[in-house]
Amino acid sequence: MASNSQKISVVTGGAGFLGSHLTDRLLAEGHRVIAIDNLITGNLKNIGHLAGNQNFSFIKHNVSNYIFLPEEKLDYVFHFASPASPIDYLELPIPTLKVGALGTHNTLGLAKAKRATFILASTSECYGDPLVHPQKEDYWGNVNPIGPRGVYDEAKRFAEAMTMAYHRYHDMDTKIVRIFNTYGPRMRLRDGRVVPAFIGQALSGTPLTIFGDGSQTRSFCFVSDLIDGIFRLAMSEFHEPVNIGNPREMTIKQFAEEILRITGTKSKIEYKPLPIDDPKVRQPDIGRAKKILGWEPRVPFEEGIVQTIDYFRGCLERGELGERSKI
Ligand code: NAD
Ligand code: UDP
Repeated sequence: MASNSQKISVVTGGAGFLGSHLTDRLLAEGHRVIAIDNLITGNLKNIGHLAGNQNFSFIKHNVSNYIFLPEEKLDYVFHFASPASPIDYLELPIPTLKVGALGTHNTLGLAKAKRATFILASTSECYGDPLVHPQKEDYWGNVNPIGPRGVYDEAKRFAEAMTMAYHRYHDMDTKIVRIFNTYGPRMRLRDGRVVPAFIGQALSGTPLTIFGDGSQTRSFCFVSDLIDGIFRLAMSEFHEPVNIGNPREMTIKQFAEEILRITGTKSKIEYKPLPIDDPKVRQPDIGRAKKILGWEPRVPFEEGIVQTIDYFRGCLERGELGERSKI
């Protein structure tokens, strides 16, 4: 049972990659955590180590439907539930739109009813295929609403609009974190994102599949850095969106070459067509996070990627291929 002063946090998407790391951090900070997840892209293995922890509970529920919790008061509601990798949201377009729209409405409603601070996991995809580089929070973006990625991008843009409306109209304490590409242990090996894709291919000796000519750029943030930024934002008084990500930018070709070098694999590179509306560049301007949160990433790419490779090596050895659950 929570003591009177113990903070209670709800984490939707708590069995996912980021939600499970966030849960660990909140527990380490002394919170009681209620994770809610329908396991559509997540996995109970990500929270298996928390079984028996009296400060942790798990509820299997789709947050696009009404959320009932008996607690009279909650302190924080972190809304992290959503398919997040391009192949997941392309295969799950309607659940993605629903969790961004209805799920955000329900979790905001929960936070309002329980007088909690609300934190939305938004995304760099709000900037679409950006015409401003690096991306600052005051850039409105270049999103194709009816393209295949629109289901994710527009759901998140709607979620941001809904969050600001609850902040302005209901005077709620809300925060919006725009998360840039993040990697680390507990990603699904087969979630299609470039980090698990290339590492999985390198470790199994199959070709690394570069989409397009590999000149598109991304900037990769290690998960512990990201979670630290999110925790600081949650504890802050700031209500406008904040970019959290690592500004170190590289082309996808350079990233492939790094994976080849670090793993020492004999895998070759294979070029495949670039997906529709794939952003050509992406790099966070983290000036706001530095100024307001005193935050910047600390884990060098070379260090984070080795930890991630070790994690995926373990998954492959155990035969955990990271297929999405069939529910
Ligand atoms: P993930 O797929 O590992 O985790 C998402 C979790 O949400 C999963 O456990 C899934 O089962 C759950 N979920 C999805 N729909 C749900 C629903 N309707 N009800 C309950 N649970 C549901 O993805 P992730 O990388 O951990 O992403 C977490 C959040 O961060 C997402 O909102 C995503 O948009 C955002 N984000 C992530 C990144 C990144 O690089 N990882 C970048 C930008 C934004
Ligand atoms: N990508 C790639 N090969 C893969 C998977 C992804 O070249 O097997 C590219 C993808 O086209 C994009 C970049 O890597 O340009 C990052 O893709 P990811 O799916 O990780 O996330 P995104 O940043 O596009 O949301």
